[in-house]
Amino acid sequence: MKTFSNYINGILTPPISGNYLNNYEPATGKIYSLIPDSTDLDINMAVIAAKNAASGWAALSNEQRSDWLMKIAARIEQKQEEFAVAESRDNGKPISLARTMDIPRAISNFRFFANAITQFGGESHHMQGIGINYTLRQALGVVACISPWNLPLYLLSWKIAPALAAGNTVIAKPSEITPFTAYLLSEVCIDIGLPIGVLNIVHGLGPKVGDSLCTHHDVKAISFTGGTATGRRIASVAAPLFKKMSLELGGKNPNIIFADCDYDQMLKTTIRSSFANQGQICLCGSRIFVERSIYDRFKIDFVSKVDSLKIGDPVDEDCKMGAVVSETHLNKVLSYISLAKEEGGSILCGGHRKIMHGRCAEGWFLQPTVIEGLPHDCRTNQEEIFGPVVTITPFDSEDEVIMYANSTEYGLSATLWTSNLGRAHRMSEKLVSGIVWVNCWLVRDLRTPFGGMKNSGIGREGGYEALRFFTEAKNVCISY
Ligand code: NAD
Repeated sequence: MKTFSNYINGILTPPISGNYLNNYEPATGKIYSLIPDSTDLDINMAVIAAKNAASGWAALSNEQRSDWLMKIAARIEQKQEEFAVAESRDNGKPISLARTMDIPRAISNFRFFANAITQFGGESHHMQGIGINYTLRQALGVVACISPWNLPLYLLSWKIAPALAAGNTVIAKPSEITPFTAYLLSEVCIDIGLPIGVLNIVHGLGPKVGDSLCTHHDVKAISFTGGTATGRRIASVAAPLFKKMSLELGGKNPNIIFADCDYDQMLKTTIRSSFANQGQICLCGSRIFVERSIYDRFKIDFVSKVDSLKIGDPVDEDCKMGAVVSETHLNKVLSYISLAKEEGGSILCGGHRKIMHGRCAEGWFLQPTVIEGLPHDCRTNQEEIFGPVVTITPFDSEDEVIMYANSTEYGLSATLWTSNLGRAHRMSEKLVSGIVWVNCWLVRDLRTPFGGMKNSGIGREGGYEALRFFTEAKNVCISY
């Protein structure tokens, strides 16, 4: 059985306690590796390594740091297939998705910020006849990057890359549920000879090792992606310590479909936006609102397409839906399906655990599920389920659907299908949501601000927003 190590001060390091956690393969429900059950002792060691490396790394030119990020990207690219197989095995996602989305995007994250840092500048403000101000953007020092299990390397690298590019040294805490590709990233850093202490990766449980990272005096900023409850906990311990925080949290995204949309394109994309990665993408649209005049047609076509989605062993090339990430998560999603029934919903398809045969007989598979007949304000339509479960609801007017869409505590993303340009602009303005996709879904330009409103988070990632987060602005005022 493979045993992973932490990556501290440039070397693979076992946890000081000597304790390990089981790591499961969702498709089989079996333990296949062990990860360090790290403690504050490991965090202390990582912080010392990161502090020692900080001034040297910050002193490199932007071009030199950019070169290191390019080297990381190139090495991951060389090992792309090994990374994709690991991601699929660890998370339960189809191998085709890991190959076409997760790993290519992780590579792009490093390349994107390697380029962005060479174009990043400070502002200057001229005061006529008096003087000039210029703003330095300096690295913060040691920063924490904490990521969830749904897009493991994709989201971890989305934080590590801008943090390193801006001249910080990093302690990364990947999800304990999906540690494999973060471990492979340690090997990449060793292979390319990344200066020691610049990046440290510490594995373990959130409330234990994550908490001690967030409360460590020498950690200056926390970039966190995960659930809203965890974000609240982190904010409660880190805010009194005046740490900078970027929190990317949960969502309950609306997918709004008007009768005048390009129907075929909408239908194809709505299958993806509902069930990609088993519905475990924070940007998936789990509340589908359909204009009443096409509701019945949509319902028949959508349910028939969902019924034909191929659930399979994630290693199969033609698998479209793999396993959900853990048994706990499977049971959570199933409990929401029971709740939907109690609340009066009708299950149009799915609704049960999918029992597989052979290697996957004990795997955590779930049928993609479509539910109708629920009011917009019931718990099923208000709480994040984060699995292959969507509700469909008819609407009659723009005002009505805006009210439905904005009625949750979340505001991460929204999808809008219409060919009416005026309506697209009007609705985009009114949606309380950090991201609005019109006639598309998950089309990403890495320069754009990414993040949520309300309880979906604080701050924005992406492009210069991320570089600004990972730097401190210092204004210098010079009198003539
Ligand atoms: P989670 O909050 O349980 O865990 C996320 C990370 O935080 C893990 O690494 C975990 O170990 C760590 N953690 C847990 N408790 C901690 C603590 N007290 N202190 C510090 N770290 C701690 O989330 P999850 O179940 O891994 O991921 C699913 C959630 O992530 C969903 O709510 C989803 O919407 C959200 N998500 C949001 C985005 C976004 O961009 N907004 C993207 C992906 C996922």
